[in-house]
Amino acid sequence: MTMQARTMQDREAATFFHTYKRLPLEVERGEGVYLFTRDGKRYLDMFAGLAVNALGYAHPRIVEAIRSQASRYSHLSNYFLQETQIRLAELLTSLSGYPRVFFSNSGTEAIEGAIKIARKWGSTRGKTEILSLSNSFHGRTMGALSLMDRPKYRDGFGPFLEGCRLLPFNDPAALRKSVSPRTAAVILEFIQGEGGIRPVSAEFARTLAELQSESGFLLIADEIQSGAGRTGKFFAFQHYPVSPDVVTLAKPIGGGLPLGAILATGDVASVLEPGMHGTTFGGNPVACAAGVAVLEEIEEKNLTGRAAVLGERLKAGLNGLAKEFPVLIKEVRGFGLMAGAELDRSGDGITDAMREKCILINCTDTTVLRFLPPLIIEASHVDETIATLRGVLASIKK
Ligand SMILES: *Cc1c(COP(=O)(O)O)cnc(C)c1O
Repeated sequence: MTMQARTMQDREAATFFHTYKRLPLEVERGEGVYLFTRDGKRYLDMFAGLAVNALGYAHPRIVEAIRSQASRYSHLSNYFLQETQIRLAELLTSLSGYPRVFFSNSGTEAIEGAIKIARKWGSTRGKTEILSLSNSFHGRTMGALSLMDRPKYRDGFGPFLEGCRLLPFNDPAALRKSVSPRTAAVILEFIQGEGGIRPVSAEFARTLAELQSESGFLLIADEIQSGAGRTGKFFAFQHYPVSPDVVTLAKPIGGGLPLGAILATGDVASVLEPGMHGTTFGGNPVACAAGVAVLEEIEEKNLTGRAAVLGERLKAGLNGLAKEFPVLIKEVRGFGLMAGAELDRSGDGITDAMREKCILINCTDTTVLRFLPPLIIEASHVDETIATLRGVLASIKK
């Protein structure tokens, strides 16, 4: 057989749904901020599994937590009380200030749960409508897609959920006009991730908070990419004077294993009574064990504070490059270690050139270079990234 000679790329192309654009790397293992490939190269990973690998690769504390939990049990079902789940719930509620948590397996499932909470909560109040913002990303299930407007994700998949309405991004007047007594919830990313690292404006957030107290809808913050310390605060919404009723989390909180969470205030959480919502795998004990390791490490090592400091360094570096290459870089945006540089062109050539120099960065929304490094990076990694990017930009500046 010729199996041996075929590359992973060929084998993937022959067998998979063609839904993913893969990088041409054959990874053998990861360690800390680095990935090592079969051809003996070492890559600095500045997008960390799209914000999942907050503690980098093969973190000893996560590895040990997984090993220890898996050797006791990997699944019991949610009929059982599970010490590891409870421990993670206690950590999350104490770090977030929200008293109640529901565990899911993924981000989009946390969003589905939040939609159900909004509908259930609104059902006794004559409120059914859910408002969301243009250019958002909330996941790939039908509920999440109903809250989104980008054709790339939605085209051909309708009809979508009724009672969902898209509002223009950062338009306080449109928000004011759209909120009504029928508004059950407004859901948003306070900093849009897939949408191009776009933070909500201070004025939009102020209007949102005002309308929330006047009209009494549920404010739902999607912190799936931005949450758990990445932006220099535990949640991105904490950069604004707002208090969401419901928060969705996922990417970093399972230490690389699938785990999502919905956090809510006591009153809101109580709308879901026994049997009304559930999941087979949600809150899987091995994922929760890894999650405990992640949150303890974030807490003990003050990785949130570190994200704030290193985020400033990253942003300063990117702003320096924007000054040097004013045509190429149109704007630098972000909070902490969730940063973006908007280009005047597609970013693919630049991410490819960076990869050739063994640094992995991502491009989202076609023209936005996105940086989501592990929270454990050092200042030297930030400096190396900026210096390498300077070289790449210089080489395309004519
Ligand atoms: C990734 C992401 C989701 C979807 O999470 P999945 O785990 O892929 O379902 C939802 N919202 C935001 C903001 C995200 O970044």
